[in-house]
Amino acid sequence: MNGGSGVYCVVVRLEREARIRVGRLGLRTFAPGMYVYTGRAARCLAARLARHLRRRKPKRWHIDHLTTHRWARVVGLLVFLGDAARECQVNQRVMASAQSDVPGFGASDCRSGCRSHLAYFAPPGPPRVIEERE
Ligand SMILES: [Zn+2]
Repeated sequence: MNGGSGVYCVVVRLEREARIRVGRLGLRTFAPGMYVYTGRAARCLAARLARHLRRRKPKRWHIDHLTTHRWARVVGLLVFLGDAARECQVNQRVMASAQSDVPGFGASDCRSGCRSHLAYFAPPGPPRVIEERE
């Protein structure tokens, strides 16, 4: 028993624009909106997910700089139990529907050529009412 393995997506909502120093990537500007980070745990998946939800922790991975920021909240986790090797496949599916990404973020040890493991989704605009006139 290795405590579980799998691929996960951490969904983070950023309330305001933020300038965040992300380890070796340096200072980056993050627009408000939703961010989806795709990662994997070869073991101890439950502990990893719990760690992503904690607001205080040593900043070890790129995503830690985002999830501990004052304007950021983890608002969802998607978990795909089993094969941790599907990480990049899941990531590329998420990226296909994203507006943009943060180049290099979370992709330091990526072996599938992903540009980034952090997808960005802009906040929806105000609802539009379309008037029909005769
Ligand atoms: Zn990848």
